[in-house]
This record gives sequence, C-alpha cells and structure tokens, in this order.
Amino acid sequence: AAADPATGVEVLDLDRAHVFHSWSAQRTLTPLPIARTEGTAVWDYDGRRYLDFSSQLVYTNVGHQHPRVVAAIQEQAGRMCTIAPQHANDVRGQAAQRITARTPAGLDWVFFTSTGAEAVENAIRMARLHTGRRKIISTYRSYHGNTAAAIVATGDPRRWPNDVGIAGHVHVFGPFPYRSPFWSADDAEECERALSHLRQVIEFEGPETVAAILLESVPGTAGVIPPPPGFLDGVRQLCDEFGILWIADEVMAGFGRTGSWFAFQHWGAVPDLISFAKGVNSGYVPLGGVILSQAVYESFLDRPYPGGSTYSGHPLACAAAVATLDAMEEEGMIEHARKLGEDVVRPGLQELADRHPVVGQVRGLGMFWALDLVRDRSSRQMLVPYNASGAANAPMAELAAACRRRGLLAITSQNRLHLVPPCNVSVDELTEALGAVDDALGEIDHYYTG
Ligand code: PLP
Repeated sequence: AAADPATGVEVLDLDRAHVFHSWSAQRTLTPLPIARTEGTAVWDYDGRRYLDFSSQLVYTNVGHQHPRVVAAIQEQAGRMCTIAPQHANDVRGQAAQRITARTPAGLDWVFFTSTGAEAVENAIRMARLHTGRRKIISTYRSYHGNTAAAIVATGDPRRWPNDVGIAGHVHVFGPFPYRSPFWSADDAEECERALSHLRQVIEFEGPETVAAILLESVPGTAGVIPPPPGFLDGVRQLCDEFGILWIADEVMAGFGRTGSWFAFQHWGAVPDLISFAKGVNSGYVPLGGVILSQAVYESFLDRPYPGGSTYSGHPLACAAAVATLDAMEEEGMIEHARKLGEDVVRPGLQELADRHPVVGQVRGLGMFWALDLVRDRSSRQMLVPYNASGAANAPMAELAAACRRRGLLAITSQNRLHLVPPCNVSVDELTEALGAVDDALGEIDHYYTG
C-alpha cells in the first residue's frame, strides 16, 4: 500500500489525484491542506495558524474540537456506533428533546436527516402533503441546498444549471433595504413593499395552489440580510390568511449564529416548519432535520409519512448534538455571541467602514456579519458585478488572498466579505481578525472610484 501522506504537498497531491470537489472546476483547484484544528483556529502542514472566521461552511458554532462534543462522540462510538431509524434510541430522543426545548410551544417533533438540503426537501414535502397544494414560494437571494427541490427553490446562480424542469417553484424578492428592489427609502417602507409584492404574487399564482413560503430567517449565503422589523410577522399573517405554511430555513442561521437559538426568534412570529442542520452539532457528524408544528405532525398520525433515509437520527450525530447544545447552554454561548456581536463586532466593523470607503454597508447580528463592498458609496455600485468570474472578480479574489496571507479564513461571496466566527470566539480573536481585515481592505481600497 502507498505510504500515508505526511506533508501538505503530499496531502494536496493525493487530493488532486482522486478527490472531485464540489461547486468547482477541477483543473486549477488548490485546496488548503489542514493538519490540525482547535477552537477558532486551524493550522496547515507548515504550522501556519489561521483564524477560522468562515466556521468552515458556517457550521462550527462551538468551534473546532470542542472537548465535550469530541468526548460524547467517542463515548457513543464505544457504546453503539449505529442503529437504524426504525428503532427507538436514547441519544436520538435526547437530541430531539434538546432541540424542541428551544422552540416555541407546539413545535415539538423532529424529523432527522443528515444534511440541510434533505431537511428543506422534506419540509417542502410535508408542506405539500399537509396542504394538498403544490407551489413553493422562495426568494431570490437565497440558498436552500443541493438536492432536487432545494436547489430549484434556491435563488442564486447555483440554481441556473440545476433548473431542469421541476415544477411548482416561484421566486419573489425579499426585503433588502440596502439594495432595495422596491425603491424604498427606509426599513418600514421596504417591509411594507416586500409584503405587498409577496401578496400580489400569491394572488396572481392562485392562493389555493401555494403550499408554503420558504424563507431563510436571515438570508446567509446571499449576504447576511436581517429582515426589517415586521417582515416575518407580515409573512405569518399572509400565511394565515391564505392557508399557506411558513417554512423557516434555519440551516445556517439557527443554533446561536445570530445570537439566539433560532434566528426567527429575534422578531416573534412563529413558523410552521423549521429546517435545520449545521450548528445543531457544529457539523462534527452530519445531522439535519425538520421541526414540525402540531398541525403538520397530526397530518401524519394516521397516514404514513412518505419519506426517510438510512441514517436518519444517526446515534453518533445525535450524541454530538446533545453535547453541542448542552455546551452552548452551559457555556452561555448564545448570550456571548449576541453581546460580542453588538459590543465588539458591530463597532469594530463600523470603524473599518469609516476608514475604507469600499465598505458600503456593515450588516449582521450575533456572529453573522457581512461587509457589502462597493465601487462608489453614492450609487452603491457593487465592487464586482453579480456572478463575476475571472478578471471581473479580481478585487474579491485579491481580498480573499490578502485575508489568507494575514492568517484569516473568511468567506468571499459576490461583492461581500462574510465574517462568521464560532459563537464562542474570544475578544482577542475578534480584535486580531478585525486587524487582519483592516489590512486586507487596505489592499483593495484602490478599486474605489467614488
Ligand atoms: N439551507 C441553508 C440556509 C443553507 O445555508 C444551506 C447550506 O449552506 C442549506 C440549506 C443546505 O445544507 P447542506 O449543505 O447541509 O445540504
């Protein structure tokens, strides 16, 4: 047998010889080989440390290698690695109990999946079966996952090559005060016009054909766009008026990311179905799911739910969820994320915006932040055009490289820099990262033309 790879170069060579990477053209890929991870940091094979302000794909909400979660997985592996979904299992029940303890009353049942896409897929299926209707309304500027209905519900360029004739999906514009599709002047106007647009789409599609409105409570990949106050309440009212279900996609925003257990809880209205994954166990073992309201649950009291998968509620994943949620609670991570988001990140990023005109807007809450980068503040022209690649995307590619040279992993998406550290990040780590972003922005300031 070939020797195990021992250096970064060997790890990369082996990867390039056999691993086919997601969402990528394969020829020019050079994924960073990671040798070790701990807390907010990861290290390459040369011992270089990087602060992980990407939380990987925004899921390591308790950071890397949290000792309590690692121990729970080890303990569960020693006791029972697997048991199929048709059995009752202690940690599966405990995970469902821990999850529903954080939801509003009535959202008391959990259907487990392994990924966020499957969670969305099943939430859509449940909504269609419960209402007997077909259409799903979702927004442009959204991501819901990589499977059939989830990718067609998505509102970003990843849908385009995957939109292969799956019927029953309608897209609307959600509220986005900084880049308003509705020519609004403030949050209140944006909220009112987004709701009026949504109402018209429902009416023109035929209310009795619409099963669900599927929304990221805070759109994440699309730019960390908190909804204006009143928007989700308005969605709830439209759903009640027309007999439509509200599916809150909390796959990225859930489990502490926004400084509350679920992002919708910042505003008050309560959804019918919640899709989750990622932060539920910080992605240590794949786990996702759907939380069901009483009414949807009762739809399947006497008729079988036509869906499931081999690994639904896998014990290793559920043991990781129990330990993750207990650690988040006992270590006060939700409050920590909320407080440091307001006390350190918001003012820190605002100060960067004061010094770097390319920062058009600072958006976010908790440990969920984006800098919307512009060529010109008055026109708000995006620093790079939508879906730019190659030379057109150079400013963003340079920014990502500049962050990395300064030991910071952040996410660049369209014209934005996303800063999404774990919920238990320290003040020192935030300060260090803000310094790195300051320097990195200095390298792209010259693109500002305003
Ligand atoms: N929904 C949202 C809001 C997401 O951000 C994602 C992934 O980024 C998904 C669904 C899909 O999750 P997964 O990649 O686990 O299938």
